[in-house]
Amino acid sequence: MKEGKVFVISGPSGVGKGTLCRLLMDRYPNLAATTVSVTTRAPRPGEKDGVHYYFKSAEEFEEMEKKGMFLETVNKYTNRYGTLYSEVERIMKEGKNVILEIEMQGGVNVKKRIAGAVLIFILPPSLEALTGRIVSRGSETAEEISRRQSEVEKEFDQAKDYEYFVVNDVLEDAVEKVKSIIVAEGTKDNIGNIKQKYFGRN
Ligand code: 5GP
Repeated sequence: MKEGKVFVISGPSGVGKGTLCRLLMDRYPNLAATTVSVTTRAPRPGEKDGVHYYFKSAEEFEEMEKKGMFLETVNKYTNRYGTLYSEVERIMKEGKNVILEIEMQGGVNVKKRIAGAVLIFILPPSLEALTGRIVSRGSETAEEISRRQSEVEKEFDQAKDYEYFVVNDVLEDAVEKVKSIIVAEGTKDNIGNIKQKYFGRN
């Protein structure tokens, strides 16, 4: 069985990354799975511990960090977020590709640690469409919305290491594009590996 790869999916707040990833996994349950991150932020209404995040105190987070449990961590606003090695391993063991739905600094750090990681940036059809989505979600205060908007341009500036750019205009199309990227990346190899597999030499 060919080992799964790590795919980072990032994009500005409100671009619909979460919905896209959920639909992708509903449609192609054997292709990929997302990790559950650790965060120190408070749960939003409807969010469940162990499903959306592992919700921890700042002290607990620090303790986990000291133990070397994180592939990457980031400070965002006043909160901390981190990807657990154990989550990545859990999905790899299932023979699936790993999807990390994380912000861009995290993506860049993952690429430094896992050279074969593939970074995908999800774009809104326009900046105006993005603002509309954040407001209609209704879970953020006006102050948080304006703070997040000012982050958008900075996020684009950080996208240097990203290789794929998928516009989330029609959700179904965006899901198919991400699926195609995952499938295509899974067929990448080099002739040395192939000859080893077929003839026992390279
Ligand atoms: P939210 O608080 O809206 O759930 O997430 C805020 C941002 O943190 C989003 O861009 C989300 O993708 C990102 N994020 C969630 N978990 C992690 C993580 O483990 N590492 C990093 N670097 N970013 C994360």
